[in-house]
Amino acid sequence: MEEPEYVRLVKETEICKNCTNIVVGRGNPNAGILFVGEAPGRNEDLQGLPFVGKAGKNLDELLKKVGLAIDDIYIANILKCRPPENRDPLPEEIKAHTPWLIEQIKQIKPKIICSLGNYATKFFLANADVEAMGKQPGITTLHGKPRIMDFAGLKIKLIPLFHPAAIIYKRDLAPLWEKDMEIVKREVRESAVQKTLF
Ligand code: URA
Repeated sequence: MEEPEYVRLVKETEICKNCTNIVVGRGNPNAGILFVGEAPGRNEDLQGLPFVGKAGKNLDELLKKVGLAIDDIYIANILKCRPPENRDPLPEEIKAHTPWLIEQIKQIKPKIICSLGNYATKFFLANADVEAMGKQPGITTLHGKPRIMDFAGLKIKLIPLFHPAAIIYKRDLAPLWEKDMEIVKREVRESAVQKTLF
């Protein structure tokens, strides 16, 4: 079978040629709620799974605190390969890796997308237009504020959240994250994402 275009685009990027694994996603693709981070780090690159390093452990703990587990959500990144030394993704890398995320969103059809941190939040607010990302407001003003938007031909509710890695270094963000998650839970209940959840 021929490789899909979105896979080919990723494989052609320099970061893909230099990474150990392509990191696609994990969790429950039928969950109806998708969390999106920025890019795999070292552990993610080695294991081929997103959010399995320090930030991932913190995310697991944060989810547990609000009665959730990884199987209640699906999680993916904008970039499917680790940028060297964890540097910020380049605009052309985002452009080349975005079609794969869009394909995931089309398949998963989430009702709710939680963007983790500044990068992912700006990406969605700019509707995947890399050039427009810089003009978007940051996570500090937007966290926990749901907004309905059209993305990849779907009506979704975007809920920006602090990145779990940021919460490791700034513990005072943890109570805010928990408060934001109460909003996520309310939205999940209202949009009947998963009848068995909450
Ligand atoms: N940070 C991210 O944004 N994604 C990961 O997969 C790991 C850390």
